[in-house]
Parts: sequence; structure tokens; C-alpha cells
Amino acid sequence: MSATILDGKHLSKVLKQEMKDEVEQIIKQGGRPPHLSAILVGNNPASESYMRNKVRSCAEVGFTSQLIRETADISEADLIKMVHHLNEDPTVDGFIVQLPLPDHIDGDKILLEVAPEKDVDGFHPYNFGCMAQGLDSYLPATPYGILILLERYNIDPTGKQAVVIGRSNIVGTPISILLSRKSKNGNATVTLAHSRTKNLRELCLSADILISALGKPFFVTSDMVKEGAIVIDVGINRIDDLSRKSGSRLVGDVDFEKVSQVASYITPVPGGVGPLTVASLLLNTLKAYKRHQLKS
Ligand code: NAD
Repeated sequence: MSATILDGKHLSKVLKQEMKDEVEQIIKQGGRPPHLSAILVGNNPASESYMRNKVRSCAEVGFTSQLIRETADISEADLIKMVHHLNEDPTVDGFIVQLPLPDHIDGDKILLEVAPEKDVDGFHPYNFGCMAQGLDSYLPATPYGILILLERYNIDPTGKQAVVIGRSNIVGTPISILLSRKSKNGNATVTLAHSRTKNLRELCLSADILISALGKPFFVTSDMVKEGAIVIDVGINRIDDLSRKSGSRLVGDVDFEKVSQVASYITPVPGGVGPLTVASLLLNTLKAYKRHQLKS
């Protein structure tokens, strides 16, 4: 068997085109474009690259955006002031604080200061709680992207066994909640595996849907995957590759070549979940814009 590729890159283009069309209609009717702001602290190369991508994607769909750069020595108090300023700014529909933050800043404390109605990353405990209870909220971008991917490929999780590897607050835990909710794109029976899980291989072999979000290259091997399973690879890992000019390349957590011989569907890395994370952030921003317009 050779798996069908779940093409996140292509799907993100489709989603962006849909948003672009919608924004064009808004502008035609005399509205202003949606606006996303982002705070980037320090100069972590991966964060720089994610931010460039987010800003470029905003332009592609007709949103305005603003990147606020701060040096790594900004104090926690000054960063909180900046968050409060964006909370109050009526021209900002949504904003994000790019993670990770420098060690002297408590990231959880900062996220708590973001106004939930502008929290388009969906990281605030208010939004997380609403998500867990099935109430309207901003879904965290990566899990949201995975749900859209499954839906657009007509994969219904209902009644399926899902195994998620990794329990982070931004990927593993929320996707396990979303897949198990009694709602559209949910109704799966979910096992959340992590670093203390025993018999991981057996658990994975029981999965109809296997989601890997742990950040270890080639961790998921073909002997961990059931014939015909749907495999979603969230991991982004840089490994040495001397055949490349850069000397490295990106891979996921899954041994793509071998696992794609066993799975029925699989996401590639790059070009799978990553592009959908950005598209989902834009969808959340559009939602924030609409809510904001309704209020004013
Ligand atoms: P994290 O790095 O915060 O945590 C890793 C998780 O993996 C932990 O919960 C840990 O318990 C689990 N884990 C570690 N070793 C394990 C093992 N041997 N067996 C089982 N579980 C184990 O997680 P994160 O921030 O969700 O990131 C995970 C990966 O996903 C990283 O590679 C990250 O770069 C990537 N990521 C990708 C996107 C995207 O858009 N594609 C978004 C966010 C994160």
C-alpha cells in the first residue's frame, strides 16, 4: 500500500483563497481589512522564520499586520504593558505573542494578560476551557489545522481509535480533547501518550488515527503503525543533511518513507500540518474581526 498524501500546503492555499475572496467582499462593501498584530521578543531564528511566514500570509489574504519587535532584555512588566496596549487598541482585531519567550519572562503569565477576545492563538485558559467544554472559542492553530485537514479529506473521526503522542498545551492535549468532543470532527476514542507512557508501540498499533507531536525525528516507525491507519505528523525537526546546500533539512517525527507504505493517509513534513497552522491563525483572526465588527 502507498498512502495518500494529506497535502497541507495545497489545502492552505485553498483556505487562503477563500479568505482572500471574503476580505475582498468586505472591502467592496466599505469595510476595513482584518488586522493581526504580533509581538516578537529576541531573535530566535525559528521564531523569525515563523513570523515572516505569518506576516507574508496576512498580506496574501488581504489582512493588515504589524510586527512589534522587542529585544530579548525587555522586562516582563514592559511586555505586559505592551500586551495591555494591544488589548485596548481598537484597530487590532487579534494578536499573538510569539513563543518561546526568554527565560526571565514567565510565558504563562503573559498569556493570561492577553484579552481572550483577541487571543487568536487560542492559548488563553479562557479559550482553552471553552474549547474543552465545546463552547465557541478560538481553537489553538495547529489542532484546528488538523481538524480542517481531516474534514476536507472527508475523514470522519467518529468511532475511530485515535492515539496522540505528546501532551503539550499547544498541540497534543488540545487535539486529544477536540477529537474526543461530542461534536463535528470529534467523537473519536482518544488515548493521549507521553514520555511516561508504557507499551507505546502496542497503543500506536491500535490507532486508526495516529498523531505524532513529540519532536523526535524518525520516532514513529512502520512497525508502530496499523495497516491503513491515518498518520498525522506534527513534528518539525532539523537534521543534518550534507547533500543540501544549507547542510540540513526538516523532517517530522515519522519515518515517512516506510510508514507511507503501511498507512492509508499521511502528512508530509514539510508541507503537511505546518502550512495549516498558519492558515488557522488567519481563520481565527478573521473570526476575531467579525466578532469585533459586530460589537462596534
Ligand atoms: P513539546 O516539545 O512541548 O512536548 C513534547 C511532548 O512529547 C511532551 O508532552 C512529552 O511528554 C512527549 N514525549 C517526549 N518524548 C516522548 C517519548 N519518547 N514517548 C512519548 N512521548 C514523548 O511539544 P510541542 O510544542 O507540541 O512540539 C512537538 C513537535 O511539534 C515539535 O517538533 C514542534 O516543533 C512541532 N510543532 C509543529 C507545529 C506545526 O505547525 N507543524 C506546531 C507546534 C509544534
